[in-house]
Amino acid sequence: MSTMFAADEAKRLLDAAIRGEMPDELGRFGPFGGRYVPETLVPAFERLDAGVQEHLHDVTFQQEFRRELREWVGRPTALTFAPRLSEIWGAEVWLKREDLAHTGAHKINNAIGQAILAKRLGAKHIIAETGAGQHGVASAAACARVGLPCTVYMGAVDIERQAPNVDRMHRLGAEVVAVESGDKTLRAAIDEALRTWVTDPAGIYYLIGSAVGAHPYPYLVRELQSVIGQEARQQMLDQAGALPDVAFACVGGGSNAIGLFYPLLGDDIELVGVEAGGTGPGLGQNAATLATGTPGVLQGSYSIILQDDDGQVQETHSISAGLDYSGVGPEHALLQATGRVEYISATDDEALEALEELCATEGILTALETSHAYAAAKNYAKRNPGKRILIGNSGRGDKDMPTLTKYPARTRKHAGA
Ligand SMILES: *Cc1c(COP(=O)(O)O)cnc(C)c1O
Repeated sequence: MSTMFAADEAKRLLDAAIRGEMPDELGRFGPFGGRYVPETLVPAFERLDAGVQEHLHDVTFQQEFRRELREWVGRPTALTFAPRLSEIWGAEVWLKREDLAHTGAHKINNAIGQAILAKRLGAKHIIAETGAGQHGVASAAACARVGLPCTVYMGAVDIERQAPNVDRMHRLGAEVVAVESGDKTLRAAIDEALRTWVTDPAGIYYLIGSAVGAHPYPYLVRELQSVIGQEARQQMLDQAGALPDVAFACVGGGSNAIGLFYPLLGDDIELVGVEAGGTGPGLGQNAATLATGTPGVLQGSYSIILQDDDGQVQETHSISAGLDYSGVGPEHALLQATGRVEYISATDDEALEALEELCATEGILTALETSHAYAAAKNYAKRNPGKRILIGNSGRGDKDMPTLTKYPARTRKHAGA
């Protein structure tokens, strides 16, 4: 499983990660992570890094963050036993319900945390970038909550594709800026957000949407999202009477997965990240970064990326917009390289099938992103009967109805069977 390090080096790095010593002061997770940004961006990142160190673990920040999670986000989210799915799979299946969080996914944990941080850092304006629009919506809501103006950069192509989310952002008070440069999608939007940030690093706060990018973002987002795994761990002990044998989470940039996995790293629990296998293993057919990618620098961080032999970043495909990304957070690269977490993929079709099964058996319409984790967990259950399985149910699928209506609901015929 571990190909990158000798066994003793893998163990040393993993032990350091479990002890909470990752990232190091350079923002590195072993060889991964760090800060590879142009000179012009360095002061902005250094300012943010100092602010994170000063505030993130400060008692008053944590009090405010926890209060907002409880009163506004709706935490703790439920841990749900899935009896019918368990019976069909021959397993004991538990779901950590991030779909029940405000705005419908885990993204809000990160958005409200960073919005509170922005305020403490004295920012007058928050900027964010979004691809599918989910992070834009979470950011717009969080900014309204803390009373800071919000500008969301979004590729012109994505604005066309995600009109309902653009409307949601507008109603939540955000300004949405169409980015016409580059590929007119997420990557161009990120470049535009960074360009704006350098013009006024003291007045502007850049609210990143996943555990990606240059240091300190992967660390900051992990810390904010770890509430998922902290709650799930305690809820498993309280409700199931034991920790799970295995935990599954879908992986786009990797924020919900690191949030679930990080508090479980030191436990005897198998951890499995599930990427988008798209329509197949070919170039451009998927977004299975860790499963098929190679090391390289993307958006300021050394991690695993999908690139061709010349280092050109590849286009990706996934039925789920939230997994459709050619990079992945650096901590996942480390967890893969040390062998602690296994990263596999599920295809578009497998994800659709899993989504239908969950709807019909448990009455939960999960997100297409999340469905990938279900597909992988089901395969695992077939090979390993009787296991206690925890699934990070990262978000709800209402947003996916325009996609889902293109596919006939196969389970309608045998629902209730
Ligand atoms: C955005 C999103 C994801 C992917 O993002 P990560 O940073 O990898 O968690 C997964 N699930 C849902 C529901 C999302 O909205």
